[in-house]
Amino acid sequence: MEWEAVIGLEVHAQLLTKSKAFSGATTKYGAVPNTQACAVDIALPGVLPVFNREAARMAVKFGLAIGATINHHSVFARKNYFYPDLPKGYQISQYELPIVTKGHIDIEIDNSRKTIGVTRAHLEEDAGKSLHEDFHGMSGIDLNRAGTPLLEIVSEPDMRSAKEAVAYLKKLHELVRYLEICDGNMQEGSFRCDANVSVRPRGEQKLGTRTEIKNVNSFRFVEKAIDYEIERQIDVLESGGTVVQETRLYDSDKNVTRSMRSKEEANDYRYFPDPDLPPLVIDDAFIRETEKTLPELPDAKRARFIKDYGLSAYDAGVLTASPEMARYYEETVRESKADPKIVANWVTGEVSAYLNRENKEITDSPVTPALLAGLLRRVADSTISGKIAKEVFEAMWNGQGDADAVIEKKGLKQITDSGAIEKVIDEVLAKNPKQLEQYRNGQEKLFGYFVGQVMKATGGKANPAQVNALLKKKLGP
Ligand code: ADP
Ligand code: MG
Repeated sequence: MEWEAVIGLEVHAQLLTKSKAFSGATTKYGAVPNTQACAVDIALPGVLPVFNREAARMAVKFGLAIGATINHHSVFARKNYFYPDLPKGYQISQYELPIVTKGHIDIEIDNSRKTIGVTRAHLEEDAGKSLHEDFHGMSGIDLNRAGTPLLEIVSEPDMRSAKEAVAYLKKLHELVRYLEICDGNMQEGSFRCDANVSVRPRGEQKLGTRTEIKNVNSFRFVEKAIDYEIERQIDVLESGGTVVQETRLYDSDKNVTRSMRSKEEANDYRYFPDPDLPPLVIDDAFIRETEKTLPELPDAKRARFIKDYGLSAYDAGVLTASPEMARYYEETVRESKADPKIVANWVTGEVSAYLNRENKEITDSPVTPALLAGLLRRVADSTISGKIAKEVFEAMWNGQGDADAVIEKKGLKQITDSGAIEKVIDEVLAKNPKQLEQYRNGQEKLFGYFVGQVMKATGGKANPAQVNALLKKKLGP
């Protein structure tokens, strides 16, 4: 029997507002526990929530970017459950009437495009955190995160493999960062994903019973967890069993998923509209105003890079992977006035390799766009060769000044004086009589050998085009 996997993702993106969803406390990460939780966040009796308009703006921004419907009227609801990190005993969320419905995200898989539906995106608040390691024999509760605004983005069950799920997740991750509504930090939990997985016989229309894998915190683990879960469900079905609808946890050390709670044990959240909050009303003016703040989106940027700079789809993809990367590239092109393809080679090559090696972000690159542009100008005006440029780049990376300073200090200026080059050519030919004879007897590929020797003798500084021309003249037809 051939099986088909079906996957739907629920993503929680922490919104980058300065203050919380329903209180004025700051959302900053990493403070001393419980120093950023105000009376509303710790649910003191008598306090009332006031909704943060910036969170709505961010949700609308997201909705517009995925071509979704922005609902003029949405409702906050109470999702009731007990947990020590939830002092109110309920989470404020949106249930029946979310702010955003029916959008889509396009993914690229094996060179073909596929559209993944986004069912809804709703606003809610985050809970606090339990600290199990800080105290002996008991747990601590940190409510700093309580009340931080989240956008929960729920996909249609449109994905058919772990690869497609990761492609969707990466697209979403890229998008929220472009929109500047979420920092996308998966380690710190500001971008988290639950994966719903089921399998069915290929050709079957009805969905199989699904399991939900909770909070997998890297793209690689999402892929592995889903792949494991697909295999596990197929094994269960092929050995005559049935898949139980349940929540499972992924154990990255053992690469398995494990049952956490079954449907019977699941909470009945008893959702109802929160009587403390009026309906969220979004008017057309608010939507139009927000639309004006939309940046150029990743897909549009990629298309423009291909068209305007003549880049390959691959290079355009790498250079638009983050807004910071795209900004770095375009600034270098602008400042250097160099061939955009040459700039692309430098950014995807040298710059990326150095960043990877030192585990740095593009914004931390010691070689800034201005510095790289300075270097490329010296290649363009033949002050140095492309090869020497790599040496200069390394020195700039290590903080030894700009291109001109490094070229000066290290004496790397290209030799363009034909008299000087000729002198070296004569020396090289004199030192290699055997090769010279072989060349004259028809071994033409030795030409390259002579070029190499001249370059070596000048420490790579001779202008390669001139070396070629002068050698040709010397060796005759
Ligand atoms: P809940 O809120 O209880 O988790 P939803 O119906 O809202 O349930 O679905 C949550 C996610 O699960 C959505 O992304 C949806 O696409 C996905 N999903 C629903 N049914 C299936 C299924 N049979 N197989 C895979 N994914 C599914
Ligand atoms: Mg769910």
